[in-house]
Amino acid sequence: MQCFNHQNLAAIGVCHSCGKALCAHCALDTGEGLVCHSDWCERRNALVNQSLEANARIMATANRNMRSGGIFSGMIGVVMLIPALLLFRHNPIGGALLAVPGMLFAMYGFSRLARKNLYPTIEHKPAVPEHALEDHR
Ligand SMILES: [Zn+2]
Ligand SMILES: [Zn+2]
Repeated sequence: MQCFNHQNLAAIGVCHSCGKALCAHCALDTGEGLVCHSDWCERRNALVNQSLEANARIMATANRNMRSGGIFSGMIGVVMLIPALLLFRHNPIGGALLAVPGMLFAMYGFSRLARKNLYPTIEHKPAVPEHALEDHR
């Protein structure tokens, strides 16, 4: 692959914003991907990376909320089921009235806890070894 601007030079990568092939002179390594020496490509790349990070944070929070919501519902269910069982001996109807919502809460809570992450998450990106860039120059 040749550089978009220099037909005689080999490209070391493509711009993360506009997709043009870039040689070592044309590529700017932002630390978050190569871009052209262009304000627009640089800003767009930064914006894309910021958006991805913001999204990852939001999704991680949503996953945590789902788990903590599951724990909360499960606890409410258990708290309702214990007196329901105690009540059941003397007052079966009253016990059942308490046991049914208690079981629903508990089942709802456990189903939320049993589910895998609702949203995809991403770990910290692996560091790119230096020689990976050098080899193509
Ligand atoms: Zn570009
Ligand atoms: Zn070039």
